[in-house]
Amino acid sequence: MQHALALARKGVGLASPNPMVGCVIVREGHIVGEGFHQYDWRDHAEIVALKSAGDKARGATLYVTLEPCNHTGRTGPCTEAIIAAGVQRVVAATDDPNPVNSGRGFERLRAAGVEVFTGACEEEARRLNEPFACWIRTKKPFVTLKSAMTLDGQLALPPSGKKHGKHSGKRRNWITSEESRAEVHRMRHAADTLLTGIGTILADDPLLTDRSGLPSWYSPLFQKFQRKRASCKTRGLKLSVQKLRMTGLICLRY
Ligand SMILES: [Zn+2]
Repeated sequence: MQHALALARKGVGLASPNPMVGCVIVREGHIVGEGFHQYDWRDHAEIVALKSAGDKARGATLYVTLEPCNHTGRTGPCTEAIIAAGVQRVVAATDDPNPVNSGRGFERLRAAGVEVFTGACEEEARRLNEPFACWIRTKKPFVTLKSAMTLDGQLALPPSGKKHGKHSGKRRNWITSEESRAEVHRMRHAADTLLTGIGTILADDPLLTDRSGLPSWYSPLFQKFQRKRASCKTRGLKLSVQKLRMTGLICLRY
């Protein structure tokens, strides 16, 4: 199951708006098939793994980090594919967080004579898809707050007051380290949407892009809170509206 979870994590930035799922098929102590889900592939992790296993899936054990689906969405139900492949046993980490579908995948498998075991590495698997579970249950986004702050609660260094050279006024005085800024890009990579306040837009004009270098099928969307109508006329907000339009094109992929 740990290997299936590692596979599922490859779906960060690739699986959304679907959950991250990894799957490993084992027969006679050997891995005969494996896969993970990414949105563009369409195939769910179980289908990717079944295709890679071929006939070796017959009589095998299938480890999967999430309850196999029993409904037809963009793809057919994974339960039927598992049954048709002759898998003997399914070990799942968690049930489907969607209350409408939860448990139905397991029911269908058991009804077809497949042995089903659940709860392996459950906590890890739940944490992996916490944002998906939040959205599917409440229709509200899972929000991560990112804030750079000094130990005494300050958000920036005080202005130096002295100017050295013609570019010194624009020089950045970071309160964060290279490592923490790299972590911010990994956080951006894992997020569907980035939001910031108008104060940050006007002060920093941030790019709000994912520069983690990790594969992603979309660019994080840019949104903003417009707290001050009066700021609409400022040059800073015009720039950010331009960015919003650019990312609006990407938004169509939803
Ligand atoms: Zn499925």
